[in-house]
Amino acid sequence: MTYQLRPLLYFALMLGACCAAFGQSPADLVVLHGKVYTENPRRPRAEAVAIRDGKIIAVGSEKEIEAYRGPTTQVIDAQQHMVLPGFTDTHVHFIGGSTSMQTVALDTAETVAEIQKRVKNFAAAHPDKKFITGYGWMYPVFGKAALPDKKILDAVVPDRPVILTAYDYHTTWANSKALQMADINRATPNPLNGIIVRDPTTGEATGALKESAGGLVSRLVPPPTREELLADLRQGLHEANRLGIVRVHSAGGDGEQVGLFDELRRNNELTVRFYLALFAPVPELTSAFLEQAEKLRQSHHDDWLAGGAIKFYTDGVIESHTAAMLAPYSDDPKLSGQLNWPPDKLQRAVTELDRRGFQIFTHSIGDRGIREILDAYEKAQQQNGTKDARHRVEHIEDPDTADIPSFGKLGVSASMQRLHALPNSDVLDVWARNVGPQRAQHAWPWHSIAASGGRLAFGSDWPVVTINPWLGIQNLLTRQTTDGKPPGGWIPQECITLEQAIAGYTIGAAYAGKREKTEGSLEPGKLGDLIVVSQDLFDVAQRDVGKTEVLYTVVGGKIVYRSPR
Ligand SMILES: [Zn+2]
Repeated sequence: MTYQLRPLLYFALMLGACCAAFGQSPADLVVLHGKVYTENPRRPRAEAVAIRDGKIIAVGSEKEIEAYRGPTTQVIDAQQHMVLPGFTDTHVHFIGGSTSMQTVALDTAETVAEIQKRVKNFAAAHPDKKFITGYGWMYPVFGKAALPDKKILDAVVPDRPVILTAYDYHTTWANSKALQMADINRATPNPLNGIIVRDPTTGEATGALKESAGGLVSRLVPPPTREELLADLRQGLHEANRLGIVRVHSAGGDGEQVGLFDELRRNNELTVRFYLALFAPVPELTSAFLEQAEKLRQSHHDDWLAGGAIKFYTDGVIESHTAAMLAPYSDDPKLSGQLNWPPDKLQRAVTELDRRGFQIFTHSIGDRGIREILDAYEKAQQQNGTKDARHRVEHIEDPDTADIPSFGKLGVSASMQRLHALPNSDVLDVWARNVGPQRAQHAWPWHSIAASGGRLAFGSDWPVVTINPWLGIQNLLTRQTTDGKPPGGWIPQECITLEQAIAGYTIGAAYAGKREKTEGSLEPGKLGDLIVVSQDLFDVAQRDVGKTEVLYTVVGGKIVYRSPR
């Protein structure tokens, strides 16, 4: 080799090294020095990732990815922290979650006195608010009755309406002022699918309003202005990114207001991807609704905002005996819940949407509600000859064991909200009492569903519970409260592995949203969405998984959250 040739060779080697990818331009972002958990079975572990134009271009060793680093490449030094695909939450009500950050939070209030204190303080701190609203109260706080009374609120705020929603959003609690403003008196009939709870002796409303009866008071509250909503949403997006969420499946309430998300996107403020379901009208699909659903699907169908899903409810919740059960509730044999749809009408609506190629998400909690929707999906797919429709059941709190194999058989994803199963006093004293010991054995049976071939996907149901997925993973593994109760876990045979839990927030969630080809794992060609977290989940005790903090959240190759620590 002659002396003159050397620089040329050197140049060629450099070119080869820095653009190992066949003369392409370098990456926009590389993550180096990571413990990368890819969710890609062909290469489960790696050290580094390169992203360009919003997509992953390479996942590999330190050396392989260094080659994509150019002068303008942004570098995240993961410092040997764990790197994961960005998380998806398969069940949120995002606008509701964002606005709930501006109301009285009662989810951790364990006594009536504590609720009174919070409501009183909030009212004092917000003298201009015409309505005091809040959410998150739990049924067992009210003892055996498990339902609250208006007098508790009248004692602290008599002069302004107070409207507080239960943590499950199925019961509303109003003070006398709110009942009076809504004209609810002894003669007011129950609305469709709702119950005004009344004093058995006087017939007067107690202030507890079940299911749709809550609408009689909540409709008094003036809706927030567009500017207020946008401000709330910015906080909600930040909260999601802070916890490692890059995509959500909205289970209703967001697609109806898609213009807000469009506006954030135009301003480059959208940092979470949205798959949007619309609430189906009960008890019949109207032509106006079908038109709205078709329009949303046509106008929004990319990686940031997409329509195409429809949300149904077959029943209510177990705590207030509104979930539809095959046999009566154990604590009250007169009750077995109710179906929200007449079965023939539900079948017709599901078949119509299946034929049009929509994906259906159905809230079903009681064993009867779950069976009804699984049957409806099966018949619709037989009748239409549809393949891979991937309809979903949401929540699945207490299925009959005979129906568990249907998830795998029918290809129906189980979208489960793991923090609803947190064995706190609400679950152990009210939920478990209502279904009785035998049916409690298949409470939230995520292991059994997976073992019989069903696919799991996990979500929070924010704002019903926190959108924090790390506490959720901990509960999937332990079925214990954060202070380790009950010892050994509640129905421990339904615990799943850490691998299954992570998959349910990544590739399983992508599958449940029909997006597993473009997201849910770290591999070339998929969206550049990843997170760097404070601890290796495989190295820490199960009881500490919930303490995981997110150090970086990257969406579409851009850092949207960086921990201040
Ligand atoms: Zn929900």
